[in-house]
Amino acid sequence: MTILPKILYVFRALPIFIPRAFFSTLQGVVNAFLWNYRRPRIKFPVLSRRIEGGGLGVPDFAKYSRAVHVAAMIVCLGYASRPQWAVMEATTLTPHDLRVLLWVPPPNRPRGMFTSLFATTTLSLRIWDSMFLKISGTGPVSRAAPLRMFQYILPHFNAQCWATKGVFNLCQLTDKCGVLEFASVQSKFHLQDSYFLSYCQLRSYLRSQGFAAFYSIHKPPLTLIESLGVSQLLPKGLISIGLNAIMKDRELPLWRYHSAWEKDLKRSIEPELWAAVFRRDVGVSRNATLLETSRKVVYRWYWTPDKTSKFASSSSSVCWRCSSQTGTYMHIWWQCPLLIPFWTMVVEFATAVVGTPIPMDPGFILVGLGGPKLTRQQSRMTFHIMSTALLLIAQRWKSDTVPSMGLLKTYMTRDRTYDSRAKEFLSVTPPKQDPWELWDIYLVKQCVHGGVNRPVDGEEASVSEVNR
Ligand SMILES: [Zn+2]
Repeated sequence: MTILPKILYVFRALPIFIPRAFFSTLQGVVNAFLWNYRRPRIKFPVLSRRIEGGGLGVPDFAKYSRAVHVAAMIVCLGYASRPQWAVMEATTLTPHDLRVLLWVPPPNRPRGMFTSLFATTTLSLRIWDSMFLKISGTGPVSRAAPLRMFQYILPHFNAQCWATKGVFNLCQLTDKCGVLEFASVQSKFHLQDSYFLSYCQLRSYLRSQGFAAFYSIHKPPLTLIESLGVSQLLPKGLISIGLNAIMKDRELPLWRYHSAWEKDLKRSIEPELWAAVFRRDVGVSRNATLLETSRKVVYRWYWTPDKTSKFASSSSSVCWRCSSQTGTYMHIWWQCPLLIPFWTMVVEFATAVVGTPIPMDPGFILVGLGGPKLTRQQSRMTFHIMSTALLLIAQRWKSDTVPSMGLLKTYMTRDRTYDSRAKEFLSVTPPKQDPWELWDIYLVKQCVHGGVNRPVDGEEASVSEVNR
């Protein structure tokens, strides 16, 4: 979305806290444009998640506004290549260090020390504090916290002594199970016994903050922002890093479509399996229509006769294709007797193209759940074939016609041409394992065997043709 950078600039430059009502209005205007002034059938919290989080990446402006300020604070964590404004801010705070103060809980920071900061930096700091529990992987005390932070909290704590032994951050005193015992710390960093009192101070404070309790549940690695705080490096894409921290969609919530698919497929679907489906969809195709169709099927966006008849009494619940069975979601997309020959041919075709047996499994074909072990290249090509088949079915919604294999191949050829032209004229770099290589190999094999007709544009199978 090209307007996003312009809006982000305003968010970053405005030194005032933007009220929630403004975001509601802005989001309403943009959403109305995106959905052509109709009410979206999918909830906004689903759509605004990242592609790999199960959404469609629709911008959530309220979260973006916070992300730009979190990104500004990440800039302050960096050591080298900081912009001029960050260097100036650091100078005004001397002898204090913003890279340390960012990790200090607000009540423990010296009072009145931030009055010299720019208004935008003060706002960024306020938002950083409000987002801190999402930034930190271990609650109010982050593992990335520099030990110098404890000089503001613990009386007589001397971080310099620890620094002389090479201990700079709290994460060096922890492992996957929590805070290390003193004996382990002592042998790891060659400490004298005199460090024991300082260690006990630290440990006691962490216990008072519930650090151990939180740790025992999650056993978290450092979050990306915490890693940047430790390394003091500044990569590109800081706003995305800030946004990912705020979105906090590492854990997949249970949406209504999850349970609906479990019921239809008669199996339980673990969150990891859903996560694998969504990970597969990242950058899978340049054709946005394919991803949109695939996601609409997953979200159960389409209104089937069975569903429509429940809120429109005049509407029939019978399948419009076979006119004999109830048009449930599974029937319309998979079980309809007129569709089964089409899906059988699609599966045979996919098996021939990717060179691995593709099972006749609705969970894999309609949603992408499970399936055989495929390489990334095979997985992407399978996605192309299945989502094109879904698109063809969706284009014949409320119609008794069934798409033909010729039309599917025509669509595939069109997409292949589009991608090769994009590569040629727009200097688009193809993915490392380009799925179209499999398609090209398939076409060469077909030429060698000489048995397949070229697909004909507009080729269509009617119900009578499929019935034959
Ligand atoms: Zn039917």
